[in-house]
Amino acid sequence: MSEKTYIGVDIGGTKIAAGLVKGFKVIKRHIEPTSVKDGASLIRQVEVVVERLWTGQVSAIGVGIAGLTDHSAGVFLGGPNLPHKLAKTRISWLLQKRFKVPATIDNDVHCFTLAEAKIGAGKRFSSVVGINLGTGVGGGIVINGQLYRGRNNGAGEFGHSLIGSSAKCGCGQKGHFEALASGSAMKRLYRKISGRSANATEVELLAKKGDRDAKKIFSVMADALGAGLANIILTVNPDVIVVGGGLAKVDMLMKPAIRLTASKIIYAPLRSTPIVRAKLGGDANLIGAAILAAEASSKK
Ligand SMILES: [Zn+2]
Repeated sequence: MSEKTYIGVDIGGTKIAAGLVKGFKVIKRHIEPTSVKDGASLIRQVEVVVERLWTGQVSAIGVGIAGLTDHSAGVFLGGPNLPHKLAKTRISWLLQKRFKVPATIDNDVHCFTLAEAKIGAGKRFSSVVGINLGTGVGGGIVINGQLYRGRNNGAGEFGHSLIGSSAKCGCGQKGHFEALASGSAMKRLYRKISGRSANATEVELLAKKGDRDAKKIFSVMADALGAGLANIILTVNPDVIVVGGGLAKVDMLMKPAIRLTASKIIYAPLRSTPIVRAKLGGDANLIGAAILAAEASSKK
């Protein structure tokens, strides 16, 4: 990444985070709740956020968004955690038209993985899988410093891979990894088992206090997470898996999940694949988006 200035924007279902990024460092940031009604109002909100950070020095804008994107056409194709009305929005083209600098768009966890691979927990490794355990489960694959995208830029969509359970995913289908390994899964499982409602943080507290229902959820989720991580290791055989998102900080989940991952893998050498916590915190997505902006503008 050159010493030019870029704006990275991270569009999630609950918040939009943006930063002015120079030499991989966020020098100014702005975060606000996503107030989505339709595609046009979201674009307007993103434009206002970019305006707040704008300086005449900005060389390009990069956007990360939760869901599938057509990276080369600059189009958001849709994702289960954002409203359907946003699908097919030409986000980068609209930003390019408004701000007169190159703009690019990619999946948010592709951005996360790229940033962690370049300057975060995956820095020392050549093949890096990133996985984000948030409201949903997103993923990305970076090989030798470049994102591996696959045919439809869908490489790393681990969240909707099948782990053979009956749990219903946020996307509507059954048996997906995300349906048992995300923050929303934790909430939903607790309601189903106990009849009471609690968010992920509350379920964790309850489990620590010995609540039987909460503990049961932790064991179900650790097993599912182990299955998902084992699938990734057996498919990609990466040098490292970098885990981010709220649940990555929950040792009560991660420690048994990492143990279970190894127990599910047939080949002994693969069992020692490092599974480490992300380093860049909430900035990873927008730094990754800025890295993609830098790459896009250097090609023009
Ligand atoms: Zn799904």
